[in-house]
Amino acid sequence: MQEPLSQLKDRLARLTDIRAATAVLEWDQETYMPDGGTESRGDQLSTLEGLAHEYVTSDEIGSLLYALKPGLDEMDYDSDEASIVRVALREHEKLVKVPASLIEEIAKVGALGFQAWGQAREQDDFGIFEPHLSRLVELKKQWASCFDPEENLYDPLLDDFEPGITHEQIGVIFAGLKPRLIALVRAISENQDAVDDSALAGEFEVGAQRAFGERVAAKLGYRFENGRLDESAHPFTTHFSRWDVRITTRYSTSNLMRSLMGTIHETGHALYEQNTSPTLYRTGLASGASTAVHESQSRLYENIIGRSRPFWAYFYPQLQEAFPHFEQVEEEAFYRAINKSEPSLIRVDADEVTYGLHVILRFELENDLINGRVRVADLPDEWNSRMEAYLGIVPPNDTLGVMQDVHWSRGYFGYFPGYLLGNLLSAQLWERMIADMPDLSAQIEAGQFEAILAWLGEHIHRHGMKFTLPELTERVVGGELDWQPYIQYLERKFGEIYGL
Ligand code: ZN
Repeated sequence: MQEPLSQLKDRLARLTDIRAATAVLEWDQETYMPDGGTESRGDQLSTLEGLAHEYVTSDEIGSLLYALKPGLDEMDYDSDEASIVRVALREHEKLVKVPASLIEEIAKVGALGFQAWGQAREQDDFGIFEPHLSRLVELKKQWASCFDPEENLYDPLLDDFEPGITHEQIGVIFAGLKPRLIALVRAISENQDAVDDSALAGEFEVGAQRAFGERVAAKLGYRFENGRLDESAHPFTTHFSRWDVRITTRYSTSNLMRSLMGTIHETGHALYEQNTSPTLYRTGLASGASTAVHESQSRLYENIIGRSRPFWAYFYPQLQEAFPHFEQVEEEAFYRAINKSEPSLIRVDADEVTYGLHVILRFELENDLINGRVRVADLPDEWNSRMEAYLGIVPPNDTLGVMQDVHWSRGYFGYFPGYLLGNLLSAQLWERMIADMPDLSAQIEAGQFEAILAWLGEHIHRHGMKFTLPELTERVVGGELDWQPYIQYLERKFGEIYGL
């Protein structure tokens, strides 16, 4: 008879395949599937997801995991084997606590909620979305209650996206960061005239945009023999194994930087997935550790590297060649233009400085919603008053306000903090990287990105899902997640640009 560990590995390999097949169908749905396929695709996805869930919660996998659990203490924590058991056990123990009927109901109500959200946006009527959102909040509270949370119902939801972090830790971090961000946003607002981004406006042919995006992605280390770049309404990265990692972007002929910076962002995600250790293939661990760790990679490439002077010292002549529009624009003017900061309504379009406040607002609201401190009916008002307090602007309607993101309509509560925590980690990683490689700027200026990728591969990518965000942070920077390096980075960079 096989050892329990090799039996477990065999089951996890099949589970990984089922999930990869699900991801292929989802990728196809977002890129090439005709609209008419929506309903049948829904059936196919729900069957595969049901199958994966049955697999994870099965008694068969459970008994293998419980047979291996006592031996965990004697295994090397960092080893592939211990990590496979630890992570699979975490997921199994979590999922078996939730009744299948509740999971089904959340999926059903989530699908309806998503539909209602779309309709409510079209008619700009929060009232259409409200009953669905209320039902989802109730169901997610029930979900959270399955885990006997000590005091806060939000923590179990957070755990789905950011294992190892609590609302309390996030609250402390955000409370420190918030006033500094608000102060920086105000100071920049008072100096708005310092940056003019009118030079970015023009007409840019889609074919040339795609070619340039692919050139940059390849230069950063994205392997096109193991990937491809397609178009979708909402850009994303997906992977079916480390040898097939795909990214998407969207093009607008009047906005070159949106597709280009979006492509760099997704490249950051994709480099993570292309560089997990091959030994983790089909173990359930060959993927990014969490939302925040993933976002630390995409934002590092998009912002810290991709909006820096050294980066454009290298790429700007190439951009000018590809787009003669920029022949008359000085490199310095271009650098300042792509770093223009201004309060705006939509999170996904927000600049580096204002972005964090969009996330803090969502974290506060969803934590309050799930714990019953804010009612769904009061959400639009709560949203608008916080927008005014943090960013000094008020959405003219709910479509541009509380209904702008898809997450809550699907029942995803606890997802948002990862976006900002990822930014914090990216700044900490960058500090560490500079300490290890003092000539980093010179490397970037020379178009050398291999050492950066190797450093991230060594410290982050290769581990896949072995470690949680706090564990990885401790390993790489020798401490906890910290907001100071991030705000210092922003104050330094934007203080210089805006002459503060
Ligand atoms: Zn991202």
